[in-house]
Amino acid sequence: MAKTDLKFGKKLKKYGAIDFNACYNCGTCTAVCDLANKDVSFPRNMVRASVLGTSEDVKSSLKPWLCYYCGECTTFCPQEAKPGELMMSLRRYLTSRYDWTGLSGVFYRNTVAYIIGFLLIIAGVLGLYFSNIFDQEEMMHYGHYFEMFAIAGVFAFILLPNIIRMWKYTVWDTVKFFNIKVYFGSLKELLVHMFTQKRTLSCGTERENKVWWIQHLVLVIGYMSLLVITVFLDWFSTDYMVVNLAGYLVSFFIFAITFLFIIKRVKKKDEKTTFSHPSDWFFVIWLFFMGFSAFLVRIFVDLDILENNFWMYLFHIIILVQWALIIVPFGKWTHFLYRSFAMYFDDIVTKANK
Ligand code: SF4
Ligand code: SF4
Repeated sequence: MAKTDLKFGKKLKKYGAIDFNACYNCGTCTAVCDLANKDVSFPRNMVRASVLGTSEDVKSSLKPWLCYYCGECTTFCPQEAKPGELMMSLRRYLTSRYDWTGLSGVFYRNTVAYIIGFLLIIAGVLGLYFSNIFDQEEMMHYGHYFEMFAIAGVFAFILLPNIIRMWKYTVWDTVKFFNIKVYFGSLKELLVHMFTQKRTLSCGTERENKVWWIQHLVLVIGYMSLLVITVFLDWFSTDYMVVNLAGYLVSFFIFAITFLFIIKRVKKKDEKTTFSHPSDWFFVIWLFFMGFSAFLVRIFVDLDILENNFWMYLFHIIILVQWALIIVPFGKWTHFLYRSFAMYFDDIVTKANK
């Protein structure tokens, strides 16, 4: 029998869960969920596990990642137990279980930790600048190298070990299965879902109205392209017209789309945007500032006014360091990664059970 954690419900509330104890197990949420089927049924069983406190069952489950938060279940729940919001909170909780550093949990449970982290980074960057160790040119040069090392370091030391832990909890501990042919063959699930998020198209109103999916797709492509253009093609220093224009274009898409996402969260017109956890706000606002500040830095370079307005670059690099050291490894950015791996692991588990 699964062990129960009597404080599990209380813990989940710290990750943003609300009202799920009102559930009376009617099953309406599972019946209306477009992504649930007879083989993979949710969210009712996840609500049940949360109410009963079977946290180890939740830890080994991929179901919270298979939900794309359309909000249909919340709309139809007769008890207003907000199952869609619970699934989102479970994703935050799972992120903290996968993270070997424990910092994801600290940030998710405590907004003050985010603020302290952001302030430390502001102090570090400004301290470095005003200590005159580096001149402006060197600051930009090392800022560029920081991006490369941050990407490689965060992936190698934090995200990769966390993905391995996720695999252990959800695949190894559940089906004890390792077959290189199957693992290799299922890789397409990982790549397809990572870049297209196509499952969203079967979910809720997205089936008819593909606006959110298209915006999301453009954002993912824009974000990846901006990484390549700034990190590998050195956008702020390049003389190549094509690279320069591409940088303007993708950074524009990023800040324009994230601006729309921020407005939607402010207006709260659908279930998806009604409940925003601080980590949701940080993600979307920082992504907006990433695109916007990168756009402005390059305009300042082209107008030859950056040297006298270096605060613009400092603002950009502060946002970038906060993004790279807090939001990417410990915040909502990881959902993009874990969800894609969940699709991959789910495919492996399904094949293992055949
Ligand atoms: S969450 Fe709501 S819809 Fe789902 S089983 Fe509970 S009461 Fe029913
Ligand atoms: S939010 Fe949508 S996808 Fe997620 S469980 Fe509810 S109905 Fe299913």
